[in-house]
Formats: sequence, structure tokens, C-alpha cells
Amino acid sequence: MSVRQPLVAGNWKMNGSQAESAKLLAGIKQGLGSVKKAQVVVCPPFILIPLAAKELQGTSAAWGGQNLDTHKSGAYTGEVSGPMLKDAGCAYVIVGHSERRAMYGETDQVVAEKFKAAQEAGLIPILCVGELLAEREANQTEAVVARQLDAVVNLVGVAALAKSVVAYEPVWAIGTGKTASPQQAQDVHRFIRARVAGKDAKIADNLKILYGGSMKGSNAKELIAQPDIDGGLIGGASLVAEEFLTICRAPD
Ligand code: PEP
Repeated sequence: MSVRQPLVAGNWKMNGSQAESAKLLAGIKQGLGSVKKAQVVVCPPFILIPLAAKELQGTSAAWGGQNLDTHKSGAYTGEVSGPMLKDAGCAYVIVGHSERRAMYGETDQVVAEKFKAAQEAGLIPILCVGELLAEREANQTEAVVARQLDAVVNLVGVAALAKSVVAYEPVWAIGTGKTASPQQAQDVHRFIRARVAGKDAKIADNLKILYGGSMKGSNAKELIAQPDIDGGLIGGASLVAEEFLTICRAPD
């Protein structure tokens, strides 16, 4: 069995002024020395990425985008491409976040194309999958997650997952304060890994699968201790340096 390095990524969503973000980044930077195991990643809004680059350059932390367009450049008003993120020093980009799927009409197919565009630009996609509350209640969790995952694998092939991260984010747990129990999360993480293993056992074994959904300092340890949970994708709690750092230290 491989040893997967844990990863904790902060999804700032549409939050932060330049001044607030500089303070947050300075706080994170100051605490990085106390994080022993996890790769720390922050994903600010596009306009704050240069600030993250300036503050985090030369540290152990990496930064990434929250979204990208499928095209490389051209007449796509309002969009930002993978090569642009790469040029800004990003190593990662979130694709298929449930807010993008629900509010910006991103289908499984679009998400798969964004995953492909991210890798073509040399970025590591953090692919978000997860079910709605109604889908969980209808026992559709595995079917939904499988469909979302398969859309990507069908487009890019299972080998592409070797250079990616998957985040399981039950939609009912995002920003609601309701966290999946460690067992609920572990069950889905195990399912995801098994599904990938059905195509390639080695890639499945090495694949980082993060949990996201109201993870915070007080519940991170228990979640990350699960055998198939390799870290977290953190929304609200990533906006407070000390809280975020507590999560980053959870795997230590
Ligand atoms: C997210 O949006 O990726 C997320 C996990 O949000 P929160 O931690 O606020 O639930």
C-alpha cells in the first residue's frame, strides 16, 4: 500500500479584499512551520492569486484557482484559462465544485473538459464530486459519484487520475455546518477508490481523495484518520488562519 501525503486545500470562494487576504496569507505563512505532513494549498479568487503568489513564493505552500475555462485563450469574455493560472504560479485548480455545477450550469461533460484543460496546462485538478441531500435520501449517493467520476475517466482515461486529486463533497454538508460522519465519508471514499481500482489498482492506491463539507479544526482529525480520507477541501474554515492551520496539522 502506498503512503499518500495528506493535502489540505482552502477554497476561499468569493471572499476577501486585498488587505484581508494579505493578513490571512501572512497568518498561514507564519504557521506553515508547524505543519508536518500535509501539503498546504490555498485557492483564492482569481484577482487575489498574484497576492498569494507573492506571499507564498518560496514557502512549502502552493496555490491554485477555483475554476478555469476549457479554452486556452481567445474571445471568452470574463473567463480565465489554465495557461493563465499556470503563468501565475498555480499548481492546482478546483474543477466541478458543486457551486459551479448548481449555479453556473456545469455539467459532468463540462467538468470533464475542464479537468482535461487543467492537465493540459500542467495544473493538478482537484475534481469535486458529491451528492445532493435528496440523492442521498434516495440511496443514489454511489450512483451520482460514479457518474461524476466516470465522465472524467471516459474523457481522459484512468491514467490521467495519477496527476489529479479527487474531493468528495456531499452537497448537503457544504457551508451548512452539517458534516458527514467519519463513517459516512469513509464509505464514499472507499467506494471512489474501489471504482478507480476497478480500472487501475495502482492509480487508485496513490489517488488522494479529500473530504469537503464543513470540515473544521474540531472535526478534521477524526475525518482525516479514516483510511481512505487523505485530507480536506475547506471552505469557510479556510478564511481564518489559525482554524485552517489546525486542519492542516490534523494529519500530524
Ligand atoms: C467547499 O465549498 O468546498 C466547502 C467544503 O465548504 P465548507 O467547508 O464551508 O463547507
